[in-house]
Formats: sequence, structure tokens, C-alpha cells
Amino acid sequence: MHKSTKAIRSQTPRSPFREHSTPLFLTSSFVFESAEQGRALFDETEEGNIYSRFSNPTVQEFTDKMAMLENHDEGLAFATGMAAVFAGFAGLLRSGDHIVSSRALFGSAHQIITQILAGWGIGHTYVDASATEAQWRAALRPETKMIYLETPSNPGLELVDMEMLGRISAEHGLLFYVDNCFATPILQNPADYGAQLVAHSATKFIDGQGRVLGGVLTGTAEVMDRIRFFARHTGPSLSPFNAWVLSKSLETLDVRMERHCSNALALARTLTECEGVKKVNYPWLETHPQFDLAKRQMRAGGAIVTIELAGGFEHASRLMQSLQLVSLSSNLGDTRSIITHPHSTTHSKLSAQDKAALGITEGLLRISVGLEHIEDLQEDFRKALEISYPRR
Ligand SMILES: *Cc1c(COP(=O)(O)O)cnc(C)c1O
Repeated sequence: MHKSTKAIRSQTPRSPFREHSTPLFLTSSFVFESAEQGRALFDETEEGNIYSRFSNPTVQEFTDKMAMLENHDEGLAFATGMAAVFAGFAGLLRSGDHIVSSRALFGSAHQIITQILAGWGIGHTYVDASATEAQWRAALRPETKMIYLETPSNPGLELVDMEMLGRISAEHGLLFYVDNCFATPILQNPADYGAQLVAHSATKFIDGQGRVLGGVLTGTAEVMDRIRFFARHTGPSLSPFNAWVLSKSLETLDVRMERHCSNALALARTLTECEGVKKVNYPWLETHPQFDLAKRQMRAGGAIVTIELAGGFEHASRLMQSLQLVSLSSNLGDTRSIITHPHSTTHSKLSAQDKAALGITEGLLRISVGLEHIEDLQEDFRKALEISYPRR
């Protein structure tokens, strides 16, 4: 069976009530049939649910589907994407270890690495996403344990060559850890390049409808065992309710991504022709500096487009005010298109130097292209740009 069919057809075994849609096990604990069973479950001679901080059938349904989609052995769900990203570090690293990471990271991942892990004696070296193989190799140290990256990055849409980094990781016996949130398992699978661990913010395209927070890690059995120990005892668990929502959402992820990507490519092409737009960035646009890699590594270009406007914040603000349909929000990965000004919101905490290194200028706008009819989106942007940049 194809993965898209499995994402629709695999669910918790049908109960005596003969439900069609998957049931929701909204329960904090599970009963033991006997004292002996309680003992067996706790000493792990019998497998089964005990308490929803450890495991829950609805959460398991969601993580099994995610592991299947990511070509990994197992999954583990978290209350948010950041809880998942953090558990990947905290469950695997020890004081004295060192991470080599792509510089272009989600803001909170950057804070974890530079503030929290650094305070615990875990060092890091940042490398530019588009660095050469020699530059990546030069960042390795004897105490390096992990290579971490996001591709495409937020908001720069820089790609990292996963084939190359998978090769370097394997050669040096390193953990290869990828945040695959922007691409989703529909567009690329880091496991195919040797990543033993993948993180997702399920809040984004996996829910895809702006309703719930959630996060998930998928990985090899050996790596997930170590992270499960950390998660079981520290308790960043996903609510079964959110897991139910997210598992249902996986039934439509494939078709949603198809529409997200075709809308994004079409909108990117339209924007290249608009007055006032200095630059359009989209992985599957021929003008993207890593277009060849994007074509090789991704099955489509994704749902995020960025534009750089002439005139900085003032024009960015005027364009945002002039859009009628597109929402102003800092989220992404919704059915509804969203526009964000990273410089003043999501990435405002970065130093001026970091912003410059990542191309986060005052004129940069990030568009999360939704599922509306493409002509309505094109029309909204054309009109708003005409108001912002009237033809003389
Ligand atoms: C949003 C996001 C996260 C964090 O996820 P939350 O669910 O908001 O905690 C991590 N990585 C990337 C790339 C994201 O876009």
C-alpha cells in the first residue's frame, strides 16, 4: 500500500461500538486486570498502557503514522514542536558534548542551543546552510556528537544538502538530527539520508488548520529508546485530544501539501512580476540559489514564499495593511494564507548581526501560502501591491 493510503487506513483497532472514525482515548490512566498484571506492566515483562504520560493508544496511533511517513522505526509525541526539538537534544547529549548546527534555525532552537545547552556545558559551532563540504567538516571536533539542521530554513528558505551531511555523520559516527517541519514527510524524508532522528512541529502543516499545538520525534529504535527514558520521566507528553486531531489531519496531509505547493509556486511566479517586489524566494523557483539541490532533495517546493520589498518596514507594513484576504499572524502552515514580518516579530530577538547573516531585512515578508483558490490569492497580492506601489 502507498503511504497516503496507510495514513488514511491505519488506526486504533475497532471497538465493540463499531465506530468508523478513530476513537479518542481521553483517559489519564489505564486499569490493571489484576495486581499481577500491574506488576508485569511496571517491570516491562508485559507491554501495555499504564498512564498517559508514558503512552496512550490515541497518541500511539499518531506517532505510528508519523514514523511510517518518515521511514523510521518509532515515534514519540510532545505537547509542542519545541518540546520535541528539546527532547532530541536533552535525551541524547551530555555535558562536554558538542553540536555542529546549521546557522539558519527556528528562533527557539537557536535559544536552546546558545543559552540553555551552552549553560549545561554543551558546545556548538554554527555553519552556514549553504557551506561547502570542507566547511562543514572543519566544524567537527573530537567531542562532536551531533549534526543538527533545518531544511528549508525559516525564514531564509536556505537548503542544506542532506545527502552530504548524512555521509559526514555516518563517517564520523555522529547523530544526524533534522527538523523537517517546513518540508513535512510528504516532501522529503531525512531518514533516507541517514538521519536517525527527525523533529516536527505538528502545530504547522501536520495539523494544518491552525487548531492545536503538538510536536513529534521519529527515529531509529536505538535513538528513540534513549529519548523515551527522558520523556517518560520529564513529562512533555502530548494530550490525547490533540493527538486525535493530529492523527485525523494526517489523513489529508498528502492532498493538502499538493495544493499548498502548487499555490505557493503559482503565487511566487506572480509576485516576481509585481511592482515593488525586489526579490522572490522559493525553493522551486529557477532563481533560488540552490534550485538544483531543491529539485533533487524535495518532491515539491513547499508552502513558504518570501519576498523582499523595496522601501523596508514602511512598505512592508503598508502591504500587510492592504491585503484583504491574507491574515497577519506569526504562525504558518494553515489552510488560510498568512503573512509575517520576521524582522519585527518571529526573529526580533536575534542580534542585528544574526539578522543580517540570515537575510532578515526590514523589507522581508514571509508568506505561508494556504489552500484558498490561487486566483483569489494572486488578486489579493496584486491589489495590495498596487496600493503600496502606485504606478507613476
Ligand atoms: C514552529 C516551529 C517550531 C516550534 O514548534 P511549536 O509547535 O511552535 O513549539 C520548530 N521548528 C520549526 C521549523 C518551526 O517552524
